[in-house]
Amino acid sequence: MTGVVPRSDPPAPVGVDPTRASIARVYDAFLNGKDNYEIDREVLRGVQAKAPEAQDLATENRGFLIRASRFIAHQTGVAQYLDCGSGLPTAENTHQVVQRINSDSTVVYVDNDPVVLAHGRALLEENDQTHFSAADIFNPPEVLEDEVVRKHLDFSQPIALFQMGTMHHYTGGGNPADIMQNYIDALPKGSYVGISHFLDPENQYSAVARKMEDVFLHSPMGSGTFRTKAEILELFCGLELVDPGLVLCADWWPDGPQLKPLNQVQFCIAGGIAKKN
Ligand code: SAM
Repeated sequence: MTGVVPRSDPPAPVGVDPTRASIARVYDAFLNGKDNYEIDREVLRGVQAKAPEAQDLATENRGFLIRASRFIAHQTGVAQYLDCGSGLPTAENTHQVVQRINSDSTVVYVDNDPVVLAHGRALLEENDQTHFSAADIFNPPEVLEDEVVRKHLDFSQPIALFQMGTMHHYTGGGNPADIMQNYIDALPKGSYVGISHFLDPENQYSAVARKMEDVFLHSPMGSGTFRTKAEILELFCGLELVDPGLVLCADWWPDGPQLKPLNQVQFCIAGGIAKKN
């Protein structure tokens, strides 16, 4: 689907199509970033028309990613990260969070968006323990056999595998749990798996989840499935979840007391961390 690019957007770099919404750029728009085009902001506005607090899908997701990264780096001794669908750099990227805690940590980001890849190249210059792979995260053999992944991650030692805000964008038609099972089979014991995912909370906020889903699926971005808690749990493939389990991102070890009641959108995104024993 195409859209009009207003003059205020800068010219797109070679290989970037500003007339097609991209998952990475729409997410950037949700986070008030600068690396997005009118077509991406159109998706944001469409979701906001159904739920004015829509941006909380992204801010809750990002907060969970940061707290999960901190937890792994502080508490588990794991020092290798395979961050699938890394997204555009924003505040507190995985490598910055974990390398601040353990400077020996290695992070391999995987993403296939051309804008993300361009920023990824800049990251490589900044940090020799952060690497970038341009593989398809929904094709585990492609990721697991990727040269960069194999060169920088030691699969005989525990790895933290992140699928943060990604699995709801799978539109391949297969069972998304099979994708996760492929990754989990390749991880050594002692590894961790982090997933965050759009949630159908199966309560009074189900209707808003379904409305947001409808906009995402019929937008130029074309993906964003809201799954129930039971469906998201299947993606962990039976691994043991770390306390408090799969919960709303807002409820996963928040940084402080929650004084305000959660809004309807905060009920629509969940996350959890599991361990492979
Ligand atoms: N993980 C980050 C976070 O939680 O803040 C970013 C999440 S963003 C919503 C999803 C990312 O997955 C985007 O950057 C998008 O380009 C990437 N992505 C989507 N499908 C992909 C695919 N098939 N292969 C590689 N990356 C993909």
